[in-house]
Amino acid sequence: MNQNKIGAFISERRRAKGWTQNDLAEKLGITDKAVSKWETGRSLPDLSLFVPLCDLLDITLNELFAGECIPEEDLKERTDAVLLEVITNWLGHDGGKTSENDTTSQTVLEVQNVSKIYKSESNSVLAVNNVSFQIPYSSFVGIMGASGSGKTTLLNLIATIDKPTNGTIKINGQTITDIPEAETADFRREHLGFVFQEYNLLDTLTIYENIALALTIKEVPKESIGPTIQNLSEKLAISSILDKFPYEVSGGQRQRCACARAIAASPDIILADEPTGALDSNAAKQLLNTFSTLCSEYHATILMVTHDVMAASYCDRLYFMRDGEIKASLHREQENKQAFFAKILEKMAWIG
Ligand code: ADP
Ligand code: MG
Repeated sequence: MNQNKIGAFISERRRAKGWTQNDLAEKLGITDKAVSKWETGRSLPDLSLFVPLCDLLDITLNELFAGECIPEEDLKERTDAVLLEVITNWLGHDGGKTSENDTTSQTVLEVQNVSKIYKSESNSVLAVNNVSFQIPYSSFVGIMGASGSGKTTLLNLIATIDKPTNGTIKINGQTITDIPEAETADFRREHLGFVFQEYNLLDTLTIYENIALALTIKEVPKESIGPTIQNLSEKLAISSILDKFPYEVSGGQRQRCACARAIAASPDIILADEPTGALDSNAAKQLLNTFSTLCSEYHATILMVTHDVMAASYCDRLYFMRDGEIKASLHREQENKQAFFAKILEKMAWIG
């Protein structure tokens, strides 16, 4: 994605409308300085502004990303060479997964002595209590625990949505607990993927555009966007609904689209909070199989929070939380899902 080209395109379309930078800024409710920055290629519009900006300039999202007026068919055109390049991009951050040993032993997430205390006037809640664990590259890790055990709080700390009271969290070696508040949104966009129970997709965009948006933000070349989405949607069985809006498809399909969007941007880690919570058991199984595919085929690293044993049985390793603490862990060796399921039940009984 060429920021300069996009900037020049915005500028050209704005002038065609007979507007000054200030006019456009006013319509978007932002400063003219921001518009000037886009037009000179120094920054890109904020995620939330893509759609209103396109509406104002009478262009499609794809055209904005491409920085020129083009027929949509051209964007979706696929060539195997481009596809290969994109897939290679997904497989790693440092030139692909050529050395199995290097990457598999790499730690993606490191949580060290992390605590979170919520204080109010009347009381304080120790929501997360001195938690430490690590997640290796390309693994599917679950955090299990009853409601109120601190799972969401822990996930929000890892997601830079909230700051720990104590302790450090590192993602691919970078200490994220140090990141200034103003830079956390950028960090999330660059490094994290999210699959939550709700609010995963932008309702004003089609499924295709939702995924394209994630790719654009990661500066995937525009000619790769179409092929990337085609390939991924075939793998995740969502090809037939790419032109639909999120409200037109089922909850299970929406979640798989959220997975496609999350992995498309090749994040360091995908964070999922009770992703199966609102799904029936068949849709839940499909989603969990999708997560497994993301790990095995795209080497995604996934951290999923759940209170559901069935969902947990899909993970490679599990941490059990209770009263804000990690009380136990389980590592799946060779056993199948059923055997792992039984082990999880046993562990839960032991934890009480
Ligand atoms: P889980 O996701 O496992 O259900 P949470 O992380 O949501 O658990 O909550 C853990 C504990 O922290 C609960 O006792 C909850 O009431 C408390 N808690 C969560 N968020 C806040 C908050 N923003 N302010 C005060 N207490 C909170
Ligand atoms: Mg929760």
